[in-house]
Amino acid sequence: MQRRVATALTLVLLLAACRTSAPLPERRLFEFNSNFWLNMHHFLRVVARGYPVKADMTPTERAAWEKAVEVYRNDYAKRDLLFDEGMLAIKTALRSANGRASLEGVAIDPALRATMEEAAPIYRRYFWPEHDAANRSWIENATRLVGEHGARIAPRVAGAYGEPWPSEPVPVDLSVSAGASGAYTTHPPHSTIASMDDPQNRGLASLEIVFHEASHQWGRRLSKGIAEAAEQQGKQVPRGLWHAVLFYNAGEITRQVLAADGIDYVDYATRGDIYKDFCGSGCREKVEAAWDARLRGEATIEEALERLVASF
Ligand SMILES: [Zn+2]
Repeated sequence: MQRRVATALTLVLLLAACRTSAPLPERRLFEFNSNFWLNMHHFLRVVARGYPVKADMTPTERAAWEKAVEVYRNDYAKRDLLFDEGMLAIKTALRSANGRASLEGVAIDPALRATMEEAAPIYRRYFWPEHDAANRSWIENATRLVGEHGARIAPRVAGAYGEPWPSEPVPVDLSVSAGASGAYTTHPPHSTIASMDDPQNRGLASLEIVFHEASHQWGRRLSKGIAEAAEQQGKQVPRGLWHAVLFYNAGEITRQVLAADGIDYVDYATRGDIYKDFCGSGCREKVEAAWDARLRGEATIEEALERLVASF
């Protein structure tokens, strides 16, 4: 009886998951931006961390630029883009300045505002044209790929987490630099993706990466499910295991959709050989064995994660 109830419940859940898997009607899934202020902020941070720059500045310009780099070196360079609340607040405030000539009325520390406005003409003259062109080229490629394949990827990626794809486009900012991982996503969902300093996320990979980053809004489902299964089974599992599943889900669904269109694609984490960083040797195979049942609609999230945890 218990089993029959569980089976019936499983069926209801699977039907719910399947119902969200039909291709989405024509609508924008992502809203891409190339924002001057956000780029200068990330660029000053990475230059302050030692990224080499070459520019033929006048002595006055060089002095002003170095002053801004020094401010970042002292106050912002070592702070985490994702976990430091102050850095999150700066990023959010700068998003509101997209397309504006100054930072007037933008909610950041007045000293930082003065530093950025002083450095702005120099950044605009020596760096921004190249950065903006790289962002726009990345966006153009990703927009084409999302237009061709995204409507079939989105409902499956979200459906695997038992969720519908968000009704509003997920905002994505391209940036010359986006931290050590080449991309990060904050809540409410907003992704920052590097257009220049991660060569691995270009071409077809940009399609996977926009869906991977958007999936972080459901990452808690994975970490919670894995923690509960580990507790039940009395196991210790690698801390990055949930992220391996997140990578696998977006990567494998992207691969399947592209394959159906006759395009060969190797997912980002396999190509970069980074699964082992998340959950050790054999990690990808374990995730694949457990999560493929979820992708086929034959397991609930909890069942798939229980199987995954049991394989450790
Ligand atoms: Zn990630």
